Amino acid sequence: MDKRTFIKLSSLAGAGVVAMPLVSSLIGCGNAPETPEGATEDPPSPGFQLPELGFAFEALEPVIDSKTMRIHHGKHHAGYVRKLNAALEGHAMEGKPLEDLLAAIGPDDTGLRNNGGGHFNHALFWKVLTPPSESSRPSGVLADRITASFGSQESLLDAMTQAAGSRFGSGWAWLVQDENQPDRLFVCSTANQDNPLMKGIVDADLQGRPILGIDVWEHAYYLNYQNRRTDYVSAVLDRINWSEVSALMV
Ligand code: MN
Repeated sequence: MDKRTFIKLSSLAGAGVVAMPLVSSLIGCGNAPETPEGATEDPPSPGFQLPELGFAFEALEPVIDSKTMRIHHGKHHAGYVRKLNAALEGHAMEGKPLEDLLAAIGPDDTGLRNNGGGHFNHALFWKVLTPPSESSRPSGVLADRITASFGSQESLLDAMTQAAGSRFGSGWAWLVQDENQPDRLFVCSTANQDNPLMKGIVDADLQGRPILGIDVWEHAYYLNYQNRRTDYVSAVLDRINWSEVSALMV
């Protein structure tokens, strides 16, 4: 972990708690100001930060157009971060790592559920998307687990497309690692900004470690695809950095 990432995580965790690897890999790419060398007092916690994209807004065209990316990242995701920080002010969960927070909340924690989920889900989405030059195929342990769990990579993509297409209204399609059986991967979908980390909210058979998420809210695709959600999902599945997906497994 480099210094910048460590400082970022320390500020996120408030009391200096080291975050879990999934959180650090997703959230550690923000742009919080660094503590000056030799500073003796912790700066006020800046709360969670909007992570920068790892690519230009236009880099995913024509699969995702630059206008959609700008609005999605700069308005939607930024809004979740802002509202999450507001919901955490004075809250008992303030200073907790995001992954722990999501695991602990219940269905009535509406502000943290919607905005904590919104922040986590979008950070993961940006992480696993990639321009064509860096797109890849699953390999190594991930490829083995996909074959064991789905029969083939094609079957996994079919399952993701099916999960995304059958989600009524807004939500996400997920590739999830079973926390009790790490070799087992499964596909599911959740509504709104819920995700498989939310043990107090989603059904037991949906719970696990999300390693790939596809946003199927209309704001993710409507400018370019209108009602053709399946076309959008198929196109996005061709812009996945499977090395990043693999790195999110334990
Ligand atoms: Mn979205």
